[in-house]
Amino acid sequence: MTGVGGGHHHHVDPGELVPLESYRREVLKRITPLKPITLGLLEAHGCVLAEDVVAATDVPAFANSAMDGYAVRAKDAAPGDELEVVGEIAAGAARLIEPGPGQTVRIMTGAPLPPGTDAVVPVEVADDVDNWVRLRVGSQPGDNVRAAGEDVRAGEIVLKEGTRLGAADIGMCAAVGLGSVLVRPRPRVAIVSTGDELAEPGAPLAPGQIRDSNSYTLTTMAREAGATAYRLPIVRDDPQALLKAFEGALAHADLLVTSGGVSAGRRDFVKEVLSQLGDVRFRKVGMQPGMPQAFGYLVRGRSHAIPCFGLPGNPVSAYVSFEVFVRPAIRRLQGRTDLNRPRVTAVLDTPVRSPAHKVSFLRVTLRRSGSVWHAQSTGAQGSGILRSVVLADGLAEVPANVTEVPAGQRLVVHLLVDPAA
Ligand code: AMP
Ligand code: MG
Repeated sequence: MTGVGGGHHHHVDPGELVPLESYRREVLKRITPLKPITLGLLEAHGCVLAEDVVAATDVPAFANSAMDGYAVRAKDAAPGDELEVVGEIAAGAARLIEPGPGQTVRIMTGAPLPPGTDAVVPVEVADDVDNWVRLRVGSQPGDNVRAAGEDVRAGEIVLKEGTRLGAADIGMCAAVGLGSVLVRPRPRVAIVSTGDELAEPGAPLAPGQIRDSNSYTLTTMAREAGATAYRLPIVRDDPQALLKAFEGALAHADLLVTSGGVSAGRRDFVKEVLSQLGDVRFRKVGMQPGMPQAFGYLVRGRSHAIPCFGLPGNPVSAYVSFEVFVRPAIRRLQGRTDLNRPRVTAVLDTPVRSPAHKVSFLRVTLRRSGSVWHAQSTGAQGSGILRSVVLADGLAEVPANVTEVPAGQRLVVHLLVDPAA
């Protein structure tokens, strides 16, 4: 049987623990969407519209041909008729030739329909010899014609405020003629790892050092969540250095995320430094991994403050904390209302133990058998075992009041992939 969190058990008074759901609700309530800005269409991809998009004109703006063929009056074009070709209209043509009775005009896909005509006979069913064309079929009015406004009518709302702009939406903005749109910007998220023991990947590892993996994991997660994230250099466990780094980050970010230094160790200075900069509070949250959590606002100048998460340093704790708190916060800053990743209910195939009074997040793989999802533990679940996340498809949630989950039990699994990402 695997235990979530694996091995070490802190002695915590259950009375000290804040229930996960109430803590999460409290934190997310304090996050508000960023102020809208105007962005060029490609920059606005993935952003949330802060206004309705209204079409100024019909799309298409004029009736045009859906085929390469011959523009005709349907009532004067019967099978077997021969018409004189009196001109040619290409896509983009501004001057139109009006065919008279017994006449037609060669027309290309997308070219405006000439006055007096109401249908197009495709080249595939016409025989064109020396500017005389013999029609093999007849037509009805509207055949192979795209009517003005058949896609969008002038004045119509084509995209509603709150829409997250995907590829087709960006295309629609362009189609109605907008070069830019009012959206909530991508949050700028600063990520900083703290710890005397941390070494840059790629640099030599001195005795006693470990690699800083958290800042890389968290920066990547923030980018995947839709933020413009940047990683700051490692900061030592030194109050002066921490203060300088956090103050610097604060100036250019909409959100600060730190890792490490929020537990009960004698060199866990992140707590006191963050508290100096604003109203950051430290709580023991009823979750595993990720019990020690910090959240609050850091003050910048007279009238500005940005939210800050102080995440625990263990790699899996940092990862799970990001999933549970930071990802929904980033989505909210973006103006999204779908704060959570998709979830499924799955049958647990491996029995697990789970700590009392804490919601635990077991890293699992998922497979489907018929219509039923099955979850299996990814192995050792210690909060330092990053491999348990590497192998995972989802986080299975074990409720706080459950200490043993037998095989066959159903659990909610939060997916670690996002179909709409
Ligand atoms: P802390 O929260 O600072 O007490 O760190 C808890 C554990 O996580 C310690 O074993 C640290 O060495 C480890 N740790 C802290 N920061 C990082 C990091 N950025 N990357 C990888 N491991 C870390
Ligand atoms: Mg530390």
